Amino acid sequence: MVKVFFKEIRIATKKRLELVNITAEVEIELRNSGIRNGICLIYAPHATVAIIANEHEYRLMQDIVNAVEKSYPRGVGWLHDGIDDNASAHLASAFIGSSRTFPVKEGELIRGTWQDIFLLELDGPRSTRRVVIEIMGE
Ligand code: ZN
Repeated sequence: MVKVFFKEIRIATKKRLELVNITAEVEIELRNSGIRNGICLIYAPHATVAIIANEHEYRLMQDIVNAVEKSYPRGVGWLHDGIDDNASAHLASAFIGSSRTFPVKEGELIRGTWQDIFLLELDGPRSTRRVVIEIMGE
């Protein structure tokens, strides 16, 4: 019988662009779910946030932020900037993606040694960013 576990966590961000490691929170919820085999969705219901998986290495984390700055520059005439001046954040979220899904096997997330899970803030700081963790399986 398939079980569905749903949990929403809240994250505060401190910078305009910032990576926040949420791996521990996700793994705690996986344990709480009691689900041993299935899939785990991590989804941010926001238009200016992304969810990514990669290495928690300080210089690489700065490289990721720098790559976002380069790929989605601010102040280059995006139309949406006429509304609330954050088009680059929307574009990065749209193309990087606001969710990641991992397989769950024997009670563990299957992820690489150098694959931690991050919320990528694109238009911070914000006092509350929601992250939905939905786990389906048995
Ligand atoms: Zn906007």
